[in-house]
This record gives sequence, structure tokens and C-alpha cells, in this order.
Amino acid sequence: MDKFLKEQEEKLKAIKKQLEKQLSSFAKKDKKVKENWKSKFPEFDGSETGSSYLEVAQDEVEEYLNRLPLEYLLELKLKDVNLALKKIKRGDYGVCEKCRKKIPKNRLKIQPEARFCLKCSKMK
Ligand SMILES: [Zn+2]
Repeated sequence: MDKFLKEQEEKLKAIKKQLEKQLSSFAKKDKKVKENWKSKFPEFDGSETGSSYLEVAQDEVEEYLNRLPLEYLLELKLKDVNLALKKIKRGDYGVCEKCRKKIPKNRLKIQPEARFCLKCSKMK
């Protein structure tokens, strides 16, 4: 494996670790489906009663809904990172998925999980 690929692999692994840490702070890994993360839905212990219970519940539901987009973005990035790691093993890392041209190394250094060259990612 050449030096550049080795460096990219290290970077991707570091990003992966970071993403998984971020995701695990508000989600638990679904053991049945790989790469699928589920937010922990707030659990109520039933000790609150009446209107205060409803208020607490509403706050928690709002909080749950608010963090979904972030979770979604993190999941997407994690998928790309895993895909890039797979490509390194497979030997087609750094090739644009659309036009099959090589993605410039400078771009890959900044965004190791990039799947497209700059031109193609702009067309998306
Ligand atoms: Zn391209």
C-alpha cells in the first residue's frame, strides 16, 4: 500500500472513531442492522403526574426531534467513511464514482471520504 493511501486510511479511521463517539452520545447502535443508529427515545418513569408530566414529555419529544437532522448527517458521513475504507481495501479508492476519473489528492486530503471529483459533486 502506498504512503498516501496509508495516510488516508489512518485519517478515515480517526474520523470514523470520532463520528461513532458523537453518535453514541445520543444514539445506540442497532445491533441487528449494521450502520444503522437509533436515537434513544426518551423514557418516562411515570413519577410525574398531571400537566407537569405532559410538559416534561413535550420537552423531551421536541429535543428528540431537534437532534434528528444532526444524527442523519453524522450517519451519512459515517457511511461515506466506511465506504472509503472499503474502497482502500478493494483498490478503487480515490476514483470518482460518476466519471471514473481520479479525484485529485489535494481534495482527498481535505475530504478523505469524498466519493466524487469536484466537478461531479457540483453537478449533484
Ligand atoms: Zn467525476
